[in-house]
Amino acid sequence: MNYNKKTIDDVDVNGKKVLLRCDFNVPQDKETGKITSDKRIVAAIPTIKKLLDNGAAVIACSHLGKPKGEWKTKLTLAPVAERLSELLGQEVIFAADIIGDDAKAKAAALQPGQIMLLENLRFDAREEKNDPEFAKALADMAEVFVSDAFGTVHRAHASTAGVAAYLPAYSGLLVAKEISIMGKALENPVRPFVAILGGAKVSDKIAVINNLLEKADTIIIGGGMAYTFKKAQGYEVGKSLLEEDRIEYAKEMLKKAEDKGVKLLLPVDNYCAAEFSADAEPVLCEGDIPADLMGMDIGPKTVEIFTGAVKGAGTIVWNGPMGVFEFDKFANGTKAMAKALGESGAVTIVGGGDSAAAVEKLGFADKITHISTGGGASLEFLEGKELPGVACLLDA
Ligand code: AMP
Repeated sequence: MNYNKKTIDDVDVNGKKVLLRCDFNVPQDKETGKITSDKRIVAAIPTIKKLLDNGAAVIACSHLGKPKGEWKTKLTLAPVAERLSELLGQEVIFAADIIGDDAKAKAAALQPGQIMLLENLRFDAREEKNDPEFAKALADMAEVFVSDAFGTVHRAHASTAGVAAYLPAYSGLLVAKEISIMGKALENPVRPFVAILGGAKVSDKIAVINNLLEKADTIIIGGGMAYTFKKAQGYEVGKSLLEEDRIEYAKEMLKKAEDKGVKLLLPVDNYCAAEFSADAEPVLCEGDIPADLMGMDIGPKTVEIFTGAVKGAGTIVWNGPMGVFEFDKFANGTKAMAKALGESGAVTIVGGGDSAAAVEKLGFADKITHISTGGGASLEFLEGKELPGVACLLDA
């Protein structure tokens, strides 16, 4: 997969209409619909400003939530248009439809330096089906396509990949940053390259482990997924998370690591609990976990081994927490890893979702080189999969 793609710096947008795929999938209050975090809108501003300053007329579009092809008033992008307008300090013209008469008329009348926003793309089922007619209708409103929604580049949807069949396609600043940093980490990492994987399920990360075994020097496995590996090594894991049907796979991966000379590190001690609860009393277990307990966090010896492996690394990729970090009593392992990454001096990349939330919550976000904005997309990136929303962009 080629990660060297043309960006908005490689195209003259002056006087042109630009279809800009943004990630305005913001969290909202369930009752009032009020936007509870405008982080994603704020993140889109640099690309939008650059395009407007360079004389483009910007037709922004995004999905919001999961309307599944139905017109759901609660999921209108109107509040996003309002917030975007406040942040930009200029009017954001809002279209009442996506590729209907209102959108077309407003797009046709749009002047350089002006911006409009289409209604929620997923109100039309053809968006997620990557319907060519729908993609063409979106593309027909513009002359250039800019992709800046990293969170959806792993999806082949009309607005993320389909439109590129009809328009020259470039990355916006957010997507450009994601693919240049993560692409480099995977293709040409500063070594030693250490990958840290955690979270709940082995099955979610099978392809990631397999791909990283080809690239990394050390792989650290913590969190709930570690217990399937411990079981594969012959340890008792009590009531811990265990995927019986993945034990064989775990054995294969342990063997592959050995054959390839990749260090694969697993927890040697764990803080356990009798039940899955924030109030459970942590019990430290070394080696086997008794039948009535479950592993909830990595123990102090493991923290020492894991943080030691991170020291001196050139590149560190982290995806998935080391324990049930949502419960304070079981957040220490995840905290210690976040701190170790922050202090490592390495190129540090944290994959979206829970690990990104953990790093932010624990106050280490500003010490990380790159926190990916896409959970699913960054996982598929680490799997080495071709991302349709990146593959469709023009090669640099
Ligand atoms: P994932 O989405 O796969 O990255 O998993 C994240 C979730 O894994 C978080 O909600 C954690 O609470 C959970 N998790 C991490 N470690 C454990 C564990 N030892 N037992 C149960 N859940 C865990």
